[in-house]
Parts: sequence; structure tokens; C-alpha cells
Amino acid sequence: MFGPYMYRGLYFDKTYLLVLLGLIITMFAQAKVKSAFIKYSKIKSKKSITGLDAAKYILDVNSYNDISIKKVRGSMSDYFNPATKQIALSDHTLKDTSIASIAVACHECGHVIQYKEGFLPLKLKSLIVPVVNFGSSLSFPLILLGLFMANQLFINIGLLLFSFMLIFQLITLPVEFDASRRAIAVMRDSGMLVGEEVDHARAMLRAAALTYVAATLSTALQFLRLFLLFGDRDDR
Ligand SMILES: [Zn+2]
Repeated sequence: MFGPYMYRGLYFDKTYLLVLLGLIITMFAQAKVKSAFIKYSKIKSKKSITGLDAAKYILDVNSYNDISIKKVRGSMSDYFNPATKQIALSDHTLKDTSIASIAVACHECGHVIQYKEGFLPLKLKSLIVPVVNFGSSLSFPLILLGLFMANQLFINIGLLLFSFMLIFQLITLPVEFDASRRAIAVMRDSGMLVGEEVDHARAMLRAAALTYVAATLSTALQFLRLFLLFGDRDDR
């Protein structure tokens, strides 16, 4: 039992192609969002609004006075943290008047609106974060321990913990798509963006959403691989 487990687990095998496939999908999506970001960073908004202006407008118009905006390092590092009620925007998003900056700022505000309206997938996501963090740190050690001790129960628990990551990413998808949908509605209806600017913003946010789809696919492929390698083999 020990031998084949170790052999199949620690050396190259055909299932490793699943991991490679996931890697290729992820790299493709990241290249795509990067090129979209570069493209739409060069297109300045006709009304010369910055990302900060856009975010402030959405917070003001909805009277979200308890939400603050802070600056975060890096590029495309923007996020909203419901726990601290803070929108973190990168320097580029704050100061630039490009379509990319406005789209990203409004997307983060889309998460704020979700939070304020009690959007269920966002609630679920916040709820399972601790479980996922716990699970992701224990999953591989447990699988390895299970292999070492030839204990299928440990392996199964490790696999189950790994599946939490996949569930988390699956819940993230509707959260991200919905935030972008809300962002586009605001940018269009408020007149922040006009004409083809709305289409540019949509393309930018679509490329960003694709990275979440790619990450989910990649995790699903990794899970499939682990399952093929170490799943319960009583019936084989
Ligand atoms: Zn988002």
C-alpha cells in the first residue's frame, strides 16, 4: 500500500497534466487582464473623473458614510474589506482618470453595495473564510500524513478540506460578476461614462472576472487530480 501511494504521489504521473492545464488557463487569464488593464488605462474618461471621484460619488449618493477609502500599494491590488468597511484602492485607481481606474473603483463599490444590501453570496463568502483558511493550511499536511501512515481517513479529510477552497472560489464567482454588473449600471446610469466608454469599462471588468473563472477551474483540476491519485480506492 505504502509503495504505490508514494510512487503515485511524489513522482511525475499523467494526472500532473491536469495541474499544468490549470496553470496554462491561469496564465492566459492573467495575460488577458493585464493587456486589458494597459489598454483601458490609456483611454482617459471624457469627463476626466478619477477612480477616487467615482468611488466618492457612489458612497455619497447612497449615504454610505461609514465606508472609508484607503490607499493600497501595488497595481490591480484594489479590494473591499467588509470587516473593516474599507475600500482599498491603488494609487493608479485613485488618481488616474482612465476607464480602467473608474471601472475598478466602481467594481469595488459594487461590493460595498452588495454588503449594504446583504447580497447572499457575499455573506456566505465572509462566513466560510475562516474555514477555508483553516482548511487550506491543513489539507496538504493531512494528505501527506495519510499517505505516510497509509491512512485513508486522513487522506479523505485532507481532500474534504481542499474541496472547501473550491467551494469558496465557486461562491466568489457570483460575487464578482454581480459587483461588475452593479458597477456598469452605476457608471452608465449616472452619466459617469458615456457612449462607448461603457463598453470599454465592461470589457475591462469582464477580463478581470475571467481571472476568477480561471482560478476556479485551476483549483477544480487540482482537486480532480488529488482525487484521482488519492481518493478512496476500496472499489479499485
Ligand atoms: Zn471584486
